[in-house]
Amino acid sequence: MKRIEFLKILGLLPLAGCSMKLNDLSKLSNELPKTAKMPVLFLGHGSPMNAIEENEFVKGFRDIAKTIPIPNAILCVSAHWFTKGTKVTAMEMPKTIHDFGGFPQALFDVQYPAKGSPALAKETKSLLLPEMVALDDKWGLDHGAWSVIKHLYPEANIPVIQLSIDYTKTGQEHYELAQQLSSLRNKGILIIGSGNIIHNLGMIDFANAHKDDYGYDWAIEARSDINKYLLNGNYQPLIDYHKQSKAFQLAIPTPDHYLPLIYSLGLQEKGESISLFNDKLLAGSLSMTSLKIS
Ligand code: ZN
Repeated sequence: MKRIEFLKILGLLPLAGCSMKLNDLSKLSNELPKTAKMPVLFLGHGSPMNAIEENEFVKGFRDIAKTIPIPNAILCVSAHWFTKGTKVTAMEMPKTIHDFGGFPQALFDVQYPAKGSPALAKETKSLLLPEMVALDDKWGLDHGAWSVIKHLYPEANIPVIQLSIDYTKTGQEHYELAQQLSSLRNKGILIIGSGNIIHNLGMIDFANAHKDDYGYDWAIEARSDINKYLLNGNYQPLIDYHKQSKAFQLAIPTPDHYLPLIYSLGLQEKGESISLFNDKLLAGSLSMTSLKIS
C-alpha cells in the first residue's frame, strides 16, 4: 500500500472527496518523518504514579522516544486488558480509563485525549486472521497504555489503539500471534508492549521501596537469567516461562504483566537486536526493565 493511502485509512487524510490540492498532500506527507521500519518497544510501566511523577524511569521513556521516528499511530498491548478472546479497540475517541484505586486525585484527573484509529483496528483484525479478533467500542486507553505513552508523546497527537491479551492462550500462541503484526512496522506503526517482566505485587517490600535497584535474591536471579536470554536472542525459555526455575515462578506469579514482553519479542526480525533501558529492580519484587528492538 502506498503511504498516502495508508494515511487515509488511518484517518490522517480524507478518504474521499478530498479538497486538498496535490501540493498540499505532498507537503503533509513531507512533514512526516520517513519510516523505513519502526522499532518495537516493551515498557516496564510500574506504578500508575509514574504517569505524574518525575523520576529516572519516565526520563527513560522520554529519552527512548527521541530515538524513534514519529509514528503514524501506536498499537499497545497492555497488561491491563486481559480478556477471553482477543479484542482490539476500534473507537474514534478512546476514553482515558483510570483502572486503579487508592491514588491521589491528581492521577484521576489525568486525561490522555489521543484519537483512536478504527481503520488501523480493522487492519489489525485482518492481519490476525484466522484468529477471530473482536472490534471493541467499550474499552479505551487503560493506564498500562496512557501512563507510559503520555511520556513518549505528551501532546497526545498520535492515534493509539490497544490489543487485548487473550488469557486462554499459551506463551507460544501469543508469540506466534504477534508475528502476524510485523507488516505494521513498515507502515509507521509503533508497537508497544506495556507490563513488567518481574511483577509480584504480593511480595512488594514497601520498607525498601526507596532503595536503588533493590530486589530479593530470586528477583536478582530472574532478572539476570531473563536479560541473558533476551540479549542472546534465546527466546524459547522466555516463551515457556512457566517451565523455568523457582525464581521465574516468583517473578511471574500471574502472566498478565509478562505477556506483553512476548508480543514485543514476536515482532523482532532477523538482524535486529535488543537494547535494554530502565533495567532496575524495585521494591524487591518488581522490575522496570524496558527494551527497544531495532
Ligand atoms: Zn500494571
